[in-house]
Amino acid sequence: VTRATRAVFNFASGPAMLPRAVMEQAQAELLDWHGTGISIMEMSHRSREFQSIVDQSIADLRALLNIGADYEILFLQGGATSQFAMVPLNLAGPDTHACYLHTGHWSGLALADARRHCAVRVAASSEATRFSTIPPRAEWQVDAGAAYFYYTANETIGGVEFHFVPEVSGPPLVSDMTSNFLSRPLDVSRFGIIFAGAQKNFGPAGLVVVIIRKDLIGRAAPTVPTLYDYATYAKHNSLYNTPATYSWYLAGLTFAWIRNQGGAEAMERNALRRSERLYRAIDGSGFYSNPVPAEFRSRMNVPFILKDPKLDQVFLRAAHDAGLEALAGHRSVGGMRASLYNGMPDTGVAALIEFMQEFARRHG
Ligand SMILES: *Cc1c(COP(=O)(O)O)cnc(C)c1O
Repeated sequence: VTRATRAVFNFASGPAMLPRAVMEQAQAELLDWHGTGISIMEMSHRSREFQSIVDQSIADLRALLNIGADYEILFLQGGATSQFAMVPLNLAGPDTHACYLHTGHWSGLALADARRHCAVRVAASSEATRFSTIPPRAEWQVDAGAAYFYYTANETIGGVEFHFVPEVSGPPLVSDMTSNFLSRPLDVSRFGIIFAGAQKNFGPAGLVVVIIRKDLIGRAAPTVPTLYDYATYAKHNSLYNTPATYSWYLAGLTFAWIRNQGGAEAMERNALRRSERLYRAIDGSGFYSNPVPAEFRSRMNVPFILKDPKLDQVFLRAAHDAGLEALAGHRSVGGMRASLYNGMPDTGVAALIEFMQEFARRHG
């Protein structure tokens, strides 16, 4: 059996597995979108056809997360990382400060970038636990005068996830939801800004969706570049310059797919079922382990280590031979990591657990 003819499950942290049905629809429509004889990839972003994709994708996302009319939904380029600068450039200024929760790699990069634009106060840090926890709420220094309060809803590398929305009265709440967006229902009205890069849970790399409360638009200083000002996108319906049209189209297909599956509630049930099975297998193995306390464990990214790190390469090679790909942990932490985004089917998790148990029997 060649690799192409049997199931391959891709556990990459991003770009990551997209729903099979979405990929098949994109394939069927690749050369000829809806009888136009033209691919979306080749189509003007000003065309009536592309506008219908824009409208439908925004309507679907609005419905999926119940997003009110007081929020704008923007589609930008530059990945999630572009927002590490855009947030302070739009909400803060040289004479202001912002509060950040430091819970791992991605919040660390975000707060470092913010320091280029404004003063940053670290409200709390979990560095002392090697970023395996979320600091207790009582220890956060929340400052009512801050320009905004920022946290990373799911730390993709550490496998630490917020299972609550932080209560911070005063500054607008800003969240990087790149690696758990659309994996559960969400009360958007609690937030000033939510952003998410597409390549983890809903599309190809490069695209980033920003959900922003309308009163936070138009605050950027005149020196902020046009493409880094949220107002540019809000004013032109994210079509000021050419957007990432094909990525936007794929994100739209995924939004529609999620709606057909039963919405964010269905994604939450899937995520819980899959991640709980895997954590149970790890905890019960005596061979694998995960360092994160249960209450902070991510449903999306499950890092684990083997009893003997000398077996890491053997594990990865054998997993590859079994059609289980991209299980190596992030280069900064090593070990293993299985990412279980919306596109990962239950059969992938079952295959991984079976493989892990067999490997532990052989090497334990
Ligand atoms: C992957 C990731 C990013 C970076 O996304 P890019 O598209 O590469 O800029 C930012 N934040 C989180 C939480 C991520 O998982």
